[in-house]
Amino acid sequence: MSDFLQRSCPNCGHKKVSGGVVSKPAAETLSPEELRPFWSGFHDSKLFFSYCRCTACRLLYAPHFFHDEQLADLYSELAPNMEMVPSASLEATQRGYFEAARKADVPGGGYLEIGPDVGYVAAQAAQDGRFDEFWLFEPNRVVHKSLAQAVMPFPARVFADMTDLSPVPDGSIGLAAMIHVLDHLLDPTAMLEQIHAKLRPGGVLMIVTHNEASLLSKVLGPKWPPYCLQHPQLFSPASITAMLEGVGYSSARVARSTNYFPIDFLVKEAGRAIGVKLDRLPAPRASVGLKLGNMITLARV
Ligand SMILES: [Zn+2]
Repeated sequence: MSDFLQRSCPNCGHKKVSGGVVSKPAAETLSPEELRPFWSGFHDSKLFFSYCRCTACRLLYAPHFFHDEQLADLYSELAPNMEMVPSASLEATQRGYFEAARKADVPGGGYLEIGPDVGYVAAQAAQDGRFDEFWLFEPNRVVHKSLAQAVMPFPARVFADMTDLSPVPDGSIGLAAMIHVLDHLLDPTAMLEQIHAKLRPGGVLMIVTHNEASLLSKVLGPKWPPYCLQHPQLFSPASITAMLEGVGYSSARVARSTNYFPIDFLVKEAGRAIGVKLDRLPAPRASVGLKLGNMITLARV
């Protein structure tokens, strides 16, 4: 099994685990090459590294996972996130994220985002007008130019490396955002520590993740889509709060977030989750907002 990384709990370092969720077969019993076809896209069979619960802090994480180098290789061939969801729905979803941050009384200063994709939320932040500089860490170089355009007329500093935030001045950031990023990182606490140093007094960190304690995850069990090869850990309101407090954030507030989907897309995805092909079923092209097992966390320094 030396093909894969062996991890202790990424929150507290403890090694003992109990319970969890397992696919048949479990990813750690296959070779990296056998796993490659399952990395991206949708498949009829679910396959993921076994998730176990840390007996000390209750975080749900995969004790076996890809190494950094394997991940870099796999991500390099990954298509942009959620390309199947038409962009009007995606924009409505992301507008809700910035709206949540705006309501949290975020101070001005710099804006920092890890994995901004094409910059939906960064563009909202630029339109808001309270941020004077945009620090954007996005591995996909193809979108770097559109990112800079998305935050005009404000200056954008765009970097392809997502692990080293040292170019950002300490204590300068009013709002930092990570949308569907933290549950992809092998070392989430290291990232949270770096961001903590970059926030100014009163600064806010906004994190969107899946919620493994959601009703949807309990109903779907191992078929819940976030159980997949791309998530080395999955958070609940309790475990993300514990991790943030452990790193030194003073307060964390968690709310369920709303995703907007076209109804026909939802019907197909629901069918896929329960193993029924519904591709030919006609459904209206309207959009609905659902609280679908995701959560938004706002933390302060
Ligand atoms: Zn732990």
